[in-house]
Amino acid sequence: MRKNGNYDPSFAREVFENVDFGDEIKMCMQCGVCAASCPLSLQMDHPPRQIFTLIRAGKREEVLSSQAIMLCTSCYTCKVRCPRKIPVVDVMHGLANYALKNGFVPRKDTANFGGKFWDQVYRIGRIDEKDLPRRYFFAGGFVEGIKNTLSFSDIGIKMFLHKRMKLLPERKIKGIISLRKMLDKAEKMQERGGASV
Ligand code: SF4
Ligand code: SF4
Repeated sequence: MRKNGNYDPSFAREVFENVDFGDEIKMCMQCGVCAASCPLSLQMDHPPRQIFTLIRAGKREEVLSSQAIMLCTSCYTCKVRCPRKIPVVDVMHGLANYALKNGFVPRKDTANFGGKFWDQVYRIGRIDEKDLPRRYFFAGGFVEGIKNTLSFSDIGIKMFLHKRMKLLPERKIKGIISLRKMLDKAEKMQERGGASV
């Protein structure tokens, strides 16, 4: 069975069978403790409890394009507090992974930033606090880059004054070759569906 309007009756089964930790949702009793505990619930379009309701209601598009699943910062509060011991954080990451694999990009900015972050770690083995924002800010063009740079300039100055940002470029770490081998392996695992975001 497939979609009827924006209702997909097979979506819950799809999640239970394909999303990492997806079948744990069956245990949810909708108490709302996870949503009430989540530090980001006010920023989320659908806090975790609501995501689980939408899955049961067959709202495939709404769930897989939700920015909430990409916003989760893995603070683990929900997992610790859930009275049913549901690994909410793992389900959220499982959903984010599944959404990306299926061509959904719930939060374009997050995905762009993540890509640039990954590139830099692969290149030099660490984050250069000047170079990463520069690449990210200018991804949408020169004018947008200047606007972004100006709006974050006070943070940049503070980081520099507190020695959190150097003027010279960061160097590659010593073990960069070994690190790249690990990252290549992780990427292959992810392509095979064995790792989470
Ligand atoms: S705390 Fe656990 S049982 Fe309660 S709504 Fe969240 S996931 Fe469901
Ligand atoms: S792990 Fe994610 S979903 Fe759970 S409380 Fe923290 S931010 Fe919210």
